[in-house]
Amino acid sequence: MHPASQHIETLAVHAGMEGVSESGSHVPVIDLSTTNPLPGVEAGGDSYENLATGGVLGSGDSAVYQRLWQPGVARFENALSALEGAEGTVAYSTGMAALSATLMATVAAGKPHIIALRPLYGGTDHVLDTGLLGTQVTWATVDGVADAIQANTGLVILESPANPTLELVDIRAVVAAAGSVPVLVDNTFATPVLQRPIELGATLVLHSATKYLGGHGDVMGGTVSGPDEWMVRLRQVRALTGGLLNPFAAYLLHRGLRTLPVRVRAQQEIAGEVARRLVGHPALARVLYPGLPGQDPQGLIGTQASGAGSLIALDLVGGYESARRFTEACKLITHAVSLGGIDSLVQHPASLTHRPVEASARPAAGVVRLSIGLEHADDLTADILQALDAV
Ligand SMILES: *Cc1c(COP(=O)(O)O)cnc(C)c1O
Repeated sequence: MHPASQHIETLAVHAGMEGVSESGSHVPVIDLSTTNPLPGVEAGGDSYENLATGGVLGSGDSAVYQRLWQPGVARFENALSALEGAEGTVAYSTGMAALSATLMATVAAGKPHIIALRPLYGGTDHVLDTGLLGTQVTWATVDGVADAIQANTGLVILESPANPTLELVDIRAVVAAAGSVPVLVDNTFATPVLQRPIELGATLVLHSATKYLGGHGDVMGGTVSGPDEWMVRLRQVRALTGGLLNPFAAYLLHRGLRTLPVRVRAQQEIAGEVARRLVGHPALARVLYPGLPGQDPQGLIGTQASGAGSLIALDLVGGYESARRFTEACKLITHAVSLGGIDSLVQHPASLTHRPVEASARPAAGVVRLSIGLEHADDLTADILQALDAV
């Protein structure tokens, strides 16, 4: 469909647009149908069975019911597959629904044991640590992955850059240690613009599409991309458990992909500028940003990821009280959870996103996380400096 030789900028604009021009439109039409006409009792039943067991819509088949198949969702999925270099993608209502579906599919296959590398997104850590979905977790470091594998290990889960302190994890090393166990990379922070885990040997790539893929703080979604064999199982879980993406959200996410490369690179450039200007400030114990000198000891930027992204963590001298004052003193930068949008946000992970994480694995109380948007670096730096003064 899309020549592998096309660049990501071209794919971002054109992938998933098949048939749109031919239908006389310039952008996809949003189809809000919850149900679809059936061609006949027998053919309708066949379509139902195919879709409810994770199949894809065949030409001339009925989509039957929105929980089973939605054309705008399929467009968005095709577009993201092109960007990630994946055979397929299954989209869900949120990133956590995407993760839950993957864990359910693993448990259903008789492989409930998960090896996970901390730090992870707080919600991911929580769902694994509680075993809410019937999984059992072994927390491991890269060096411990091989020894942690059991006969019933279904997945190895990691994030790079990791949330919230932005450590980089060597994806190729984890893939090698995992052997035949599939590796899932949460690629929310890097996006396919900066890192394509499937090319590095990962089996599955997860996104909270709520973040950079949507990019404007106005839509929630989640995706898992990977080989067809997994996509069938994941579509079946979606069809039967119902965590589906709605058609309008799919439209917005697909539209978001079209500007993803320019947004991600511009935000990254601004973040790099801001991070460099903050280094050495007396109120900061550390500026955590993988693009700063000395913060990528494994040399993964340039080999695994093409850049450091646009999240920065600041570790404030004075711990919790300083972090609280700083967060509350930011003016241009909004105090709010989430990330990856065009406007800059700040949050305090230890008391918010990582609150449910076991104390020993929780980020330090003085750490705040900044998601840098598209504002000018001068204005962002000025806001941060005035907030540091208020500390
Ligand atoms: C936000 C986030 C999630 C969860 O996604 P939702 O869309 O909020 O459900 C998972 N992983 C990472 C890295 C995230 O930032």
